[in-house]
Amino acid sequence: MKHYLYCPGIIAAKRIGAEEPPAEYLSERRPLPPELAAGYRRVEAEVPLRRPSLRGVADYIAVDRWGGVVPIETKAGPGPPATPEIYQLAAYMWMAETRGPVRYGILIKDKPHTIPYTPDLAEALMTIIKNIAQIYAGRDPPYVTRRCAACGYARHCIYKNTRRA
Ligand code: SF4
Repeated sequence: MKHYLYCPGIIAAKRIGAEEPPAEYLSERRPLPPELAAGYRRVEAEVPLRRPSLRGVADYIAVDRWGGVVPIETKAGPGPPATPEIYQLAAYMWMAETRGPVRYGILIKDKPHTIPYTPDLAEALMTIIKNIAQIYAGRDPPYVTRRCAACGYARHCIYKNTRRA
């Protein structure tokens, strides 16, 4: 998901076998505020999640007192949640549904933000997941962002030095 949101061209690069750059393996996970963790029945860290077309490792998965499943992501930096951060958390919410009911997730920046898992967010997420699946199936992305200067997949990119997009 984070790759698609950075540039759909990365999915095309992965489709043809591009390896993840070493920096991708570095975890950005930050400690959970104790007062937040105390409000949950159980909290697991670095939880691998998987559903068709998508997989990832959630920073934390909490379970509330009613059995609800709550993905928690930690990000560096202040400010309100950015759109890519919300979609990444939404992807964890969708994948975490395999563990139980998900009503919201939490994004922790300089403070925790509760992100409701609304039908509109789920529908927008499904559109992205469908696009990712189509790229893996062979369709080239309809656009690429060309944020190439900081892209770890530039060496394998079929768009970087062409006019295809
Ligand atoms: S090198 Fe540029 S166009 Fe290619 S995937 Fe990366 S950001 Fe996208």
